Amino acid sequence: MTIPAFDLLKPGSVAEASQMLLEHGDEARPIAGGTTLVILMKQRALRFSHLVDLQSIPGLERIADNDDGLSIGALATHRSVERSPLVQRRAPALAQAFSHVGNVRIRETASVGGNLVHADYRLDPPPALLVHGAEVVLAGAAGTRVVALKDFYRGMYETALEPGEILVEVHVPHVAPSARTVYSRFSSLSANDWPCIGVAALLSVDGDDVGELRLGLSGVAEAPLLAAGLDRFQGQGCSEELWDVVCDVVDEQISPVSDLRGSADYKREMTRVWVKRTLRELAAS
Ligand SMILES: Cc1cc2nc3c(=O)[nH]c(=O)nc-3n(C[C@H](O)[C@H](O)[C@H](O)COP(=O)(O)OP(=O)(O)OC[C@H]3O[C@@H](n4cnc5c(N)ncnc54)[C@H](O)[C@@H]3O)c2cc1C
Repeated sequence: MTIPAFDLLKPGSVAEASQMLLEHGDEARPIAGGTTLVILMKQRALRFSHLVDLQSIPGLERIADNDDGLSIGALATHRSVERSPLVQRRAPALAQAFSHVGNVRIRETASVGGNLVHADYRLDPPPALLVHGAEVVLAGAAGTRVVALKDFYRGMYETALEPGEILVEVHVPHVAPSARTVYSRFSSLSANDWPCIGVAALLSVDGDDVGELRLGLSGVAEAPLLAAGLDRFQGQGCSEELWDVVCDVVDEQISPVSDLRGSADYKREMTRVWVKRTLRELAAS
């Protein structure tokens, strides 16, 4: 299938890219790796007369370790995040999450910014970013603003991006050395298919008690979500019974939809299984 004709614009800076997007309005979109956008345009699901090539802007692919966290440029590829020694050391769950996306060909091309902006409800990386308290840096004509990733998603395929804005960086705060993190995904079709559900957890244990507990989920609501209200478990002893109560709290916050990878009821049940399994694994590690 061919792609309908479009003009590829080559900005030299983020400001120029933002200006181009504003000038062409709904007729233009940024393109990064193109792994999603090109397919949707070929399928005629989307049509744009202008694409603004973010890969012509230098410096957006950097991964750096700062005092307060990792800074990951929007154009860093999934593969570069997955293989980065910095990410593997500072945020292993994030390296795991990116390593699960699609296949190597996709990961060599797809960008971090493209993944987050695509805002599919089943994405692998957001749960791991959410448990780290990640923030996205958005740049546009009005300047730059920082938005917590948990507030970035507004619904299915909807984000907080304003017209002309570009996601330029993801800030991933370091977590306490005592905190352990993991990302697990459950695929109900083939192993490298999109996940049925994705679960990231952060757990620190003080003696036998819960210190800090965070859970990020995807595939179980209209957008990836960070479970709320888990602070109440601080100081309670890690046990199978406690994990059951955590699962009850999570269950109240999810609203899965039935799709190819499972019915809503099945996903609800699998969320319980995978949250419990993930917490058990972290508590024992
Ligand atoms: C075969 C296949 C399998 C896949 N499997 C998985 C999977 O298992 N798990 C998973 O999480 N994902 C999966 N994906 C989705 C994949 O993660 C996305 O295709 C990819 O991350 C998009 O990145 P990209 O750089 O190619 O974005 P593009 O396709 O270039 O753009 C995607 C969207 O984001 C916008 N955009 C891109 N960059 C920016 C930016 N910096 N600022 C503002 N807007 C921007 C574009 O305008 C477009 O709307 C799969 C995709 C394919 C094709």
